[in-house]
Amino acid sequence: MKPAPFAYHDPRSIEEVLELLASLDNARLLAGGQSLMPMLNMRVAFPDHLIDLNRVEGLTGIAEEGGSIRIGAMTRQRDIEESALVRARLPLLAEALSHVGHRQTRNRGTIGGSLCNLDPSAELVAVATALDAVLEVQGPAGMRELSIHDFPTGFMTPALAPEEMLTAIRLPLPPARHGAAFTEFARRHGDYAIVSAAALLVIEGSRIARASLTLGGLGAGPLRLRNAEAMLVGEAPSEAAFGAAAAECAGIEAMSDPQAPAWYRRRLSAVLTRRALETAAARAAV
Ligand SMILES: Cc1cc2nc3c(=O)[nH]c(=O)nc-3n(C[C@H](O)[C@H](O)[C@H](O)COP(=O)(O)OP(=O)(O)OC[C@H]3O[C@@H](n4cnc5c(N)ncnc54)[C@H](O)[C@@H]3O)c2cc1C
Repeated sequence: MKPAPFAYHDPRSIEEVLELLASLDNARLLAGGQSLMPMLNMRVAFPDHLIDLNRVEGLTGIAEEGGSIRIGAMTRQRDIEESALVRARLPLLAEALSHVGHRQTRNRGTIGGSLCNLDPSAELVAVATALDAVLEVQGPAGMRELSIHDFPTGFMTPALAPEEMLTAIRLPLPPARHGAAFTEFARRHGDYAIVSAAALLVIEGSRIARASLTLGGLGAGPLRLRNAEAMLVGEAPSEAAFGAAAAECAGIEAMSDPQAPAWYRRRLSAVLTRRALETAAARAAV
């Protein structure tokens, strides 16, 4: 199928984009096009105006700034995956990216596009949640910061007004001595995950000093397992502690869809949580 007709806009600056967003009705931003183009072609989305971000200055780059890694919204997923800085300081992000689609889709797809598309199973949304990301959003009133935890407002619906855009994402750096792991179950390599799990452990001495546990694919947004995180802190990394954390998955809410029923997602959650914790602990010990 072909998209419904739309007017194409090719701005060069963030200010121009914001002017267009403020003045046009039913406009949509185009980033890597890896989700939007299929949606246009299948006529799931039919904007009257398409605003292309690909030639806008100042939306790309990966840099360490004040205890965080800041990534421009239009930075390609493959550039992040290959970044020496990301691999050294945020290996969890690089590992999660290796599960996102295929190398070809990552060459075009952007971090901002994936976050704003907000697919329930998107690996980047899950890992941003695990890392307590802060989003930089620009609109007519200037820049505002938004926690990733407040970003999903419903199924594939980010907390962005029609005249706003995401410009960057900041990922706070965990201590250098941490262990993290991202694991998922998908039907085929490159498919969206049915369930994914991200674990991050900071171990001081022989005890867990900090734990972050996130599941993706269960509902509109990722789920942080706050009870399990609290249970782990102060414990020694052990089979018993990880088993108890994974047992918390028995009570979580999960969606059913044609891919998998809720009970199956819950069961996967427990298995993947334990697996991610074991791998994170092994990596923390190295
Ligand atoms: C074959 C295939 C397999 C895939 N598998 C996976 C997978 O396993 N996991 C996964 O997570 N994804 C997968 N994807 C989707 C891919 O990750 C997309 O890259 C991503 O969802 C969207 O990023 P994009 O840059 O292409 O954004 P686009 O498709 O251009 O845009 C997506 C949405 O975000 C909005 N948007 C984009 N940028 C901004 C911004 N700066 N501010 C506000 N709104 C913005 C757009 O208006 C649009 O609504 C797959 C895609 C394909 C084609």
